[in-house]
Amino acid sequence: DIEMDNLEQEGINEEFIEFAIRESIQDASKLPCSAPIHRFETVQILLPCFTCVGPACIPAGDVCALQELSGYTSAFRERDSRGQLLLHAAAVQPQQEILHVCFLNSYLPLYCVFETEDGDTCLTLAAEAGLVENVKILLQHQASPHNNNSRNESPLLIAVRKKSYDMVFTLIMGGAFVEQVCQSKWTATHEAAKVGCPAVLLLLLRHGAKVTTRGAHGVTPLGIAAEYGNAEALEILIHHGGDVNAQASNGDTVLYDAAGNGNLDCIKLLLVHNANPNVASYACQLPIHRAAYEGHILALRTLIPITTKKAIRLSGQNPVHSAADGGQVECLKLLLQKGYDVNAMLDTHISENYGDLRKTPLYFAVSNGDVTCSEILLAAGARTDLDPLQCILVAVRAERYELVQLLLSYGAEVNCNFSVICNTLFPTALQYSLRDPVMLRLLLNSGYQAYKCFQCCHGNCEEIDSTWTELHNQAYQIYSQPNAISVRVISFCEYVSVSWLTHLVGGIVRMFLDYVSHVNICPNLKRILEKRPEWEEISEILGKPRSLQHLCRLLIRGHMGLRTLNNPEAMAAVPFPPRLRKYLTYSDYDLYGELSSI
Ligand SMILES: [Zn+2]
Repeated sequence: DIEMDNLEQEGINEEFIEFAIRESIQDASKLPCSAPIHRFETVQILLPCFTCVGPACIPAGDVCALQELSGYTSAFRERDSRGQLLLHAAAVQPQQEILHVCFLNSYLPLYCVFETEDGDTCLTLAAEAGLVENVKILLQHQASPHNNNSRNESPLLIAVRKKSYDMVFTLIMGGAFVEQVCQSKWTATHEAAKVGCPAVLLLLLRHGAKVTTRGAHGVTPLGIAAEYGNAEALEILIHHGGDVNAQASNGDTVLYDAAGNGNLDCIKLLLVHNANPNVASYACQLPIHRAAYEGHILALRTLIPITTKKAIRLSGQNPVHSAADGGQVECLKLLLQKGYDVNAMLDTHISENYGDLRKTPLYFAVSNGDVTCSEILLAAGARTDLDPLQCILVAVRAERYELVQLLLSYGAEVNCNFSVICNTLFPTALQYSLRDPVMLRLLLNSGYQAYKCFQCCHGNCEEIDSTWTELHNQAYQIYSQPNAISVRVISFCEYVSVSWLTHLVGGIVRMFLDYVSHVNICPNLKRILEKRPEWEEISEILGKPRSLQHLCRLLIRGHMGLRTLNNPEAMAAVPFPPRLRKYLTYSDYDLYGELSSI
């Protein structure tokens, strides 16, 4: 009960105090300072809860109320809920009288060093608020310019960020140390290079700032100016002795940073001062790679004639890789036009950084799902079979129909195998498209070897599949090799016998029948199929001879070859009547074509 009473009492008090403050502020704005009686009473009431007064009367600029308070020194020692002293609130007020009044209290200079709970000092707050006069007053009252806030920023750093020449000057005159280290070894000089204010930068340099100071990761102010594309700041730093060939701890050169930003003035400035474009970062990246990746065409144009073939070779990667990876169409075109190799291969030490051990620029474009860049590369002669995991499989796995079709039209091998994870008797693409009838049709129409899905060792009877025997021998050879990883070749019937795939088998096998002549269904596969609704239709098709028309289609397709069949232009040139052409290319089953035409 007593507790309840206390709470109630507190609530009432708070309400009353709030009301009183409001009154007080209103009065202050109405009454001249010389009529303080009413307000003086208010202040007296407020004194037990002084923490409410600071923020309340100071933002309103109530100098008079404050003056009345100045007799009560304890008030200035109390903190509000955020740990702010009255002085902190005063520091961010544009009316200097308030600060002056605060300082009339003789204890106050001591409090300049106090921090709020957020770690701010009066000086960092005043600097953040951009109030030069307040900064002056605080410095006059012994506020230390060396105390950083909780983000480890010095007042000087904040002033530089604000691009305030006057404040920087005031702080330096007030004893601020220009080389003071802030967050991540960053100095005011780094900040000036970042914000790019030449006057402030010059001021710092005149007062002892060093151009060689290194921030986190060993980056110099030059690197920062280049990174943020501040040519004027960069020029000042160079003229003050900055090293244009300085490298950060990760090996990034200043020119590399400039290439990342793409500011041509910075790049030219560096080159005029003999920056070397052929120095790679420790990640084996040259400025030309960076420009290509970021899509800075003018920078790239500048770097192409001065980057040596040797430097590119030593880096282990080609700018074409970078442009393809960054999806930079214009840069890619420029590089190819300038004779860079569309089939450049990553060196092993770069390739090993990728789990898929990729090699080609095309692989970057395809794995990014980038149709435009893929097409540019393919049109320029990119090969589709140079990566350990072929591009077509990447596109199938990512369910990118457009890319799959594009790759196939440029002759990608739909029947390729990737046996590292799972060595199957049927071409790998099926593993990634079992659940996707649209993709499956696309692959089958493009020549996927469906008949291989009916080959296994379970043979119906005496009939022994010659392919199987051959593979069995191969498997035996692999067995006998000590380093062999994958030894077991899995057939389709085995692959789909797992419980989470059996429901798909009926539809898939029915689909396959459109692409094969007569096939035998092994007992294992039959056991699964018999439970599926499609079995009736499948057994009916298999029970009769296939139509002559269908068999002819298979034969003609076999003679034409997939390069012709999958290339729309080549097909258009074939002297067949359109209906026959449609029949041969299975265009009735072109689910993706239907999808994309909607
Ligand atoms: Zn089988």
